[in-house]
Amino acid sequence: MKVPFFTFRDFPAGLQQQVENALVTELRKNQLILGPSVTSFEQEFSRFLGGGEVVGVGNGYDALVLCLRALGIGPGHEVVVPANGYIATINAVQQVGAKPVFAEPDGQSYNLTAASVLPVLTAHTKAILPIHLYGQSCELEGLLSLCQKHGLYLVEDFAQAQGALYKGKPVGTFGKINATSFYPTKNLGAVGDGGAVVTHDIDLASWVRQYHNYGQSKRYEYAQAGINSRLDSLQAAVLSVKLAALNTLNAERKRLAAIYHRSLSEVGDILLPVTSSPDTDHIYHLYVIRTHQRNALQQFLREKGIQTLIHYPVPPHLQAAYEQLGYRPGDFPLTEELAANSLSLPLFPGMTEPEQMYVVEQIQQFFR
Ligand SMILES: *Cc1c(COP(=O)(O)O)cnc(C)c1O
Repeated sequence: MKVPFFTFRDFPAGLQQQVENALVTELRKNQLILGPSVTSFEQEFSRFLGGGEVVGVGNGYDALVLCLRALGIGPGHEVVVPANGYIATINAVQQVGAKPVFAEPDGQSYNLTAASVLPVLTAHTKAILPIHLYGQSCELEGLLSLCQKHGLYLVEDFAQAQGALYKGKPVGTFGKINATSFYPTKNLGAVGDGGAVVTHDIDLASWVRQYHNYGQSKRYEYAQAGINSRLDSLQAAVLSVKLAALNTLNAERKRLAAIYHRSLSEVGDILLPVTSSPDTDHIYHLYVIRTHQRNALQQFLREKGIQTLIHYPVPPHLQAAYEQLGYRPGDFPLTEELAANSLSLPLFPGMTEPEQMYVVEQIQQFFR
């Protein structure tokens, strides 16, 4: 049997047809950039999040850059990011001229916590930029009180966690201004690039709304020299369809994760994802296990037709791109261990029971 790491299936049944219909309808409207469908999606996403301003933008990376720029973060400022995070988040900090400062994650959730961030704060720190990694919400209360105490902004990167809750409220609504991505494989995915900025601050939202569209204040009037990072209408139309199904899609991911949990809990030398806090939530954008035999297990599964991935094999502080920050191997032991031991198993809405049982059996077989 072949099991892909991720693929699009018609789940919930009929979704694929709805997506295709939405694309054709949108195409015939003949308004492909911005326009009413983008506005509708922004309003629907705002309602889903329980309020706030939503600005659709070109992609998740741009959303992050726009958040940081809106806050006036730039040269001379430091922004704390997870050492084990995705490179896009760090590149966004670099892009605005600020310095990314890495912090080790918590050993259970793999997310930043107040305790993990505190040691790296300096007089130059301007913001904390946590990722709700793999779909698990961060302990936001601790991060928020740390921000309050030190006069910092909290900016959430919720690209991997649309619909995940913290204390019953969706993430992406706790920070001053927050960013998400609609890259096709995300839990809320478009059929191309897309992203959004979310904030409760009207002034920040207005600034982003202007700056992301060349700085246009009125038609042909430009208040500032902005950029072009817009959500297109085809993506917005698809996102409206997918958003209506998002809670169902996330519930299905949770159901599949629970099956992995039950089936793999007795297998030796595996650490399963931990979701111990009653305040946090996990929507399993990725199901990441840890094992000392990671490379051998991945190879074994590959030979059995099962595709797995590693998120992420080389930590940002050891990438050539960030040499100038002066970090060395050993600076972030947990992050480095995660890079060496983590393996993401196939998990996607519409994955069948035989597929998942096959993955479970092959993992059991490997450790036997
Ligand atoms: C996907 C992702 C991004 C970048 O999104 P793009 O739309 O690909 O630019 C940023 N941060 C995190 C945590 C992501 O997972």
